Amino acid sequence: MICKYCASHKFVKFGTRNGVQIFKCKDCERVFLGNEKFWRMRKPKTLVGKTLDIYFKEGYKLEIISDQIKVDTSTIFRWINKYSNFSHKYIESLRTQIQVHNYWLIDENEIIINGNNYYCWDVVDFRTCYLILSHVSQTRAIKDFQNLLGISMSRTGERPIIFISDRILDIRADIERLLSVSLMPNRAFERVPIEKFRITMSKRNEAIQGLRTLSNIQNILDGFAIQYNFFSDHITMNGTTPAQEAKILIHPRNWQELIEYWVTVSDTSP
Ligand SMILES: [Zn+2]
Repeated sequence: MICKYCASHKFVKFGTRNGVQIFKCKDCERVFLGNEKFWRMRKPKTLVGKTLDIYFKEGYKLEIISDQIKVDTSTIFRWINKYSNFSHKYIESLRTQIQVHNYWLIDENEIIINGNNYYCWDVVDFRTCYLILSHVSQTRAIKDFQNLLGISMSRTGERPIIFISDRILDIRADIERLLSVSLMPNRAFERVPIEKFRITMSKRNEAIQGLRTLSNIQNILDGFAIQYNFFSDHITMNGTTPAQEAKILIHPRNWQELIEYWVTVSDTSP
C-alpha cells in the first residue's frame, strides 16, 4: 500500500472509522482510509494485486490461479486485461521520463496460439535492459519489422542503432535493402544479457501460447512488459529494475502499488 496523496510508503496506523483502518502519512502528514478495494471492484485490492503478480510473474494458467484464489477464470482474465491496459496507458503518460539509449536489440520468437503460428517480437534497450515494445504479428515480413520500429521510435524519441538476434539474421539483408537501415548481429555487442532476457520471457511465451484468441494479446504483452520492466531486479548489471535504469520516477514494488500510483496522480479511477 502507498499514501494516496504522495505515494509514500511511510505511514502509521491512525485509529479506525466504521471499522475501516485509517492511516497517517509520515511524509505529507495527511490521513487516508486503508481503502480495501479498487474502484468498482468487489474483491479486495490486495487479492487483485496478488493475482496480477502471480499471473505476470509466473505465467501460470488461469485455472491454476483460479484454484489458488477461488475466483473464476473469466473474472481473473478480466482483471488481467483491465489492469494491464490501464497500467500501460499510465506508463505511456510517463513517456517523457523514460531515458533509453539508442542501441537496441530486436529478438523474435515463434509462438503458436490456438493452432496458428505467430511471431512475437521484442525491442530491448541494451544499456538499461528496458523492454520498449513487445508485439505479435501474423507474418514475418518487412512491414512487420517496419511497424515494430515505428512504434518503438515514437515511444522513445530515439533513432536507434539496431542489433538483431540470430533468429532474424535470415531476413537481415531484405530489411536493410528495403528499409535503408543497417542491422548488426547481436554478437557484435555482447553486453546485453540476451539469454537472461529469454529465460525471463520464456514464462511469458508459454502463457501467451495458452491464450485461446489473439484478441487481447497486446494487453497481455504490455502486462508482461510492465512486470519485466518494473518488478524484475535480477536482469540489469546493477541489480536494479529496467524501469529504474531508464530513470522512470515511480518505483512501485508490485501491481497493487502500480495501480495505486495511478489513482494517486490522476483524478480518474481505474
Ligand atoms: Zn503522503
